[in-house]
Amino acid sequence: MPEQPIVQATEFDPEDEYRPEPEPEPQPPSWMNGSTRIGIHTPIAGSYVNALEAARKLGCNALQIFSASPRMWQGGSARIPEVDAQAFRARREELRLGPLVIHANYLINLAASQPMLRTRSIQAFHDEIVRGVALGADFLVVHPGARGEATSEQAIATIVESVKQAAKRVPVGGLRILIENTAGMGTAVGARLEEIGDILAGLRGLPIGACLDTAHLFAAGYDIKSEDGLASTIGQIDGTMSRGPARTYRQGQDWSRGVRANFTAPAIGCSSAGRTGGAGVLGRDAD
Ligand SMILES: [Zn+2]
Repeated sequence: MPEQPIVQATEFDPEDEYRPEPEPEPQPPSWMNGSTRIGIHTPIAGSYVNALEAARKLGCNALQIFSASPRMWQGGSARIPEVDAQAFRARREELRLGPLVIHANYLINLAASQPMLRTRSIQAFHDEIVRGVALGADFLVVHPGARGEATSEQAIATIVESVKQAAKRVPVGGLRILIENTAGMGTAVGARLEEIGDILAGLRGLPIGACLDTAHLFAAGYDIKSEDGLASTIGQIDGTMSRGPARTYRQGQDWSRGVRANFTAPAIGCSSAGRTGGAGVLGRDAD
């Protein structure tokens, strides 16, 4: 093979004299490459796969679903037939839809001290975990529950025990349980970040995290609308989620798996006190 000359003879080409910067290639919106996640809650009416199709049509790359009716106790089998679960997993893979969040049934009260409600709640949450694993979900979000007459400490101990029982003997795979903060309506546990932190600390060893609802945070008195208030709230999140001897939740890293941006309608079961109506009190700056 003949050797290539080291210096190539170059001829002057007037075209080379001025080369304008090419127009930058239009970049795809950042959510398309997955660096920003935009998701929506989609209905499973008809079939689980329908929830995926709805998310795809809206251009989302993440989604949240209920894995069963969210305001009814499941009668009969709470399991998803494997053929349906398999079809769902396959279609999601095809559509390359990112994080799948399941929101647990609203009737579940993991803090219940009344034995029948507590047993029912543990069973229902166990079923949620099983369905979440079957669907290949990444996260299962649950509200901590209402403490009734119990103290916050007692309720937190009950919640921790309930989650442990519900997760017993379930190979959870890649599913992570997220405890959601609340607005603190009635005797709801979880309006204070310390309570969420205590629950997480009690559940060390399980795949666990927090889901922070911004509207709930605000309604509970965390001033995330102002820059200073937001900084201080983030400081409190870091502080409360990183407690516990094992330090499972490192600052700024593992404390939060889901932040639900909730700017408009009050969330289910959320106090509307302090809101200014349907427009949402947080405003667009909170994006
Ligand atoms: Zn919720």
